[in-house]
Amino acid sequence: MGRIIMEARDIRYRYPRGMEAIRGISFHIRRGEKIALVGPNGAGKSTLLLMFNGMIRPDSGTILFDNAPIQYDRASLRMLRKRVGFVLQNPDRQIISPTVYQDVAFGPTNLGCRPDEVKEAVERSLSQVGLAGFERRPPHHLSGGEKKRVAIAGVLAMDPDVLVFDEPTTGLDPSGSEDIMELLEELNQQGKTVIISTHDIELAYPWAERAILLLDGKILQEDVPDVAFGNQELVRKARLSMPTLLELYLELERRGFRLPERRPRTVLDMLNVIDRAFRNKPCYTEPGAISLIDINAPGEVDLPVWRAAHPGISIGAMGTRAKQYAVDKNIPLDFTYGVIDKCILKALLGEDSLIIITGSMVRRVHERVEEFCRENQVRIPILDLCYARKGDDPGGEVPV
Ligand code: ADP
Repeated sequence: MGRIIMEARDIRYRYPRGMEAIRGISFHIRRGEKIALVGPNGAGKSTLLLMFNGMIRPDSGTILFDNAPIQYDRASLRMLRKRVGFVLQNPDRQIISPTVYQDVAFGPTNLGCRPDEVKEAVERSLSQVGLAGFERRPPHHLSGGEKKRVAIAGVLAMDPDVLVFDEPTTGLDPSGSEDIMELLEELNQQGKTVIISTHDIELAYPWAERAILLLDGKILQEDVPDVAFGNQELVRKARLSMPTLLELYLELERRGFRLPERRPRTVLDMLNVIDRAFRNKPCYTEPGAISLIDINAPGEVDLPVWRAAHPGISIGAMGTRAKQYAVDKNIPLDFTYGVIDKCILKALLGEDSLIIITGSMVRRVHERVEEFCRENQVRIPILDLCYARKGDDPGGEVPV
């Protein structure tokens, strides 16, 4: 682990005539880390980031860079900004010069570098962001992704230790966003500490080494992303939703599957999880049964009586007529769409379920359940109650 490069100690900040945007925050960031500040709009992400290079000064508390409290005189801020580069959310606000070369050269020129050093810095940073050869181009004619890269090159030209990105993918299409995240990964590989803010939890999840979940100017949670984002309650509280792969993993875990300990962050990890889950015998209880009641069958089962004998069972209906039948008999339905899969999920939890159905769909249920059982080497009994006569034992397990 690298040593601590930035630290905040109980910082607070209120905008003039505004509300308190940062309400007592402490954390530290180590050299070489990839950190995501995640939270909904208005959480205080941008405000916090602006404190990292002294653009906003906390009303109270201290921010340390390289173990020394930030000083706010001009000379100190100049040095700080050379070491902590800031990439704004909107590149149009960051790019100020008529050519790409001039724009990227702005920082090193301002720092008083010699022209040959400036030239070297511009060429190096343009090639780092994949824009070698763009020197003479007017930035305002470039695509959104290219402008973003020019803004990043402008920051890289100062060769900072820490790179701060406020919402790095705003306004970019999915492929442009991926390119930028790849670039951030590469810069981190080259030794830069990278801090981003985002409300895109799916984006932060596979990328970050550590996530700081922010809400109303306070830290809700700070941990590796699969822990920080793995608490449904906290994630909801922050008006976000859990990353899909993580949610899927936790659902499998809840069902008693034996899974690799490392939670999946990519599709490849997830495939590994699924492979393991189904290769090892899952340790859940015996699957529950799915009963079918065909409302067209002769010798109709007395549904209210049957239901009274099976308290708590989940009931679904397939088809308009079956649903109407349930209404007529005053049977509340748990599932009215995706019914077969939902009953399979129940069965895998060891719970029984019932599908109210009409003849033509019975086969579909058998086929889907049999297919699932074959592929996953489980045995879910289907109990066809449709031919049972009133008062008969509603048995007749059909082999699957
Ligand atoms: P985020 O980046 O997470 O969307 P911000 O840091 O932009 O959050 O905002 C945090 C809070 O501070 C919000 O309530 C916002 O309305 C307020 N705020 C942001 N900028 C200003 C400003 N210039 N003047 C007054 N209040 C502001």
